[in-house]
Amino acid sequence: LALYEAKRLGKNLYRFFTPALEERLLNQYRLQHEFIAALREHIPVLYFQPQVDITTGHLRSLEALLRWPRADGQIWAPGAYFPVIEQDTDLMRRLDLYVLDQARAAIRHLAGEGIRVPIAVNIHSRHLLHPDFLKDIQTVLKEDPGIASSLEIEITESSELPDLALAGEILGECHALGLAIALDDFGTGYASLNYLQKLPCDILKIDKSFVSDMGEDPRDFAIVSGILTAARVLHLTTVAEGIEQPEQGLLLRDLGCQYGQGYAISKPLPLDAVVHWLHGWRPPDLWRRRPAAADA
Ligand code: C2E
Ligand code: MG
Ligand code: MG
Ligand code: MG
Repeated sequence: LALYEAKRLGKNLYRFFTPALEERLLNQYRLQHEFIAALREHIPVLYFQPQVDITTGHLRSLEALLRWPRADGQIWAPGAYFPVIEQDTDLMRRLDLYVLDQARAAIRHLAGEGIRVPIAVNIHSRHLLHPDFLKDIQTVLKEDPGIASSLEIEITESSELPDLALAGEILGECHALGLAIALDDFGTGYASLNYLQKLPCDILKIDKSFVSDMGEDPRDFAIVSGILTAARVLHLTTVAEGIEQPEQGLLLRDLGCQYGQGYAISKPLPLDAVVHWLHGWRPPDLWRRRPAAADA
């Protein structure tokens, strides 16, 4: 197996093949297979994180985030295993299909509770560019016609999109099917503005790395402000990620950002907990004490 991997990675690597590398490849291989088995047994679950209007507190959407409960009681966030899963396009596609299916079930469950809210699903760029991507989306929509208006897809622009023209065409088709499209982690990729120019999208999600320091760092403040100005001109919806302090919500609001997501609002929660959260949710006192700049 290790020999096979080494060959697959290229002949040059063969020379550098060491026991440490062999061990690492073996661990990767084990993890991938463990994940395949977990998908088959429906072990990974979706958590949901609310995106709310930072002026009114009104719920806009729920972002689905995958969690993998482990035998030892830990719950793994994607950072713990994505680097290994991502190496295998087919596996990444299976993961996305699993998530789309779970998201569909969640939309139906919420509708049963009288809650109509879109669910945003992260799509890996490798899956987006896969020849069967549109077929995959159509299959999901066929299961539950009418669901398209409740489904958003988030594309991370920091993950490479080698063929922007193709990505643009595919996203255009998604639009035609009725899905809303968000550019995730906006501002972190080296090609942000290029993406903005070439890809059809409805929503810009400002990366949390800019939001976390915008109160102290004038550069981050300027970048957020610039993104919001561009979004306004292009009539795009804006969502700020990673709002941990209520003060950040106020700053963003004053700059014209309409929606936010982050620990100050809610952590990602299991479906039942998010329904519970929704019934008890009130915007932070600070937001309610100070009216929005536009109303003042
Ligand atoms: P993302 O789409 O940008 O998701 C936001 C991440 O920020 C989530 O991490 C969320 O838990 C975290 N977060 C939310 N609010 C805050 C905050 O106030 N402060 C901080 N420090 N973090 C916050 P998570 O769940 O670990 O996901 C990481 C990334 O993995 C996601 O980034 C997304 O790119 C990817 N991902 C997650 N679930 C899926 C999935 O189902 N499919 C695919 N293809 N990718 C996924
Ligand atoms: Mg996302
Ligand atoms: Mg993001
Ligand atoms: Mg992010």
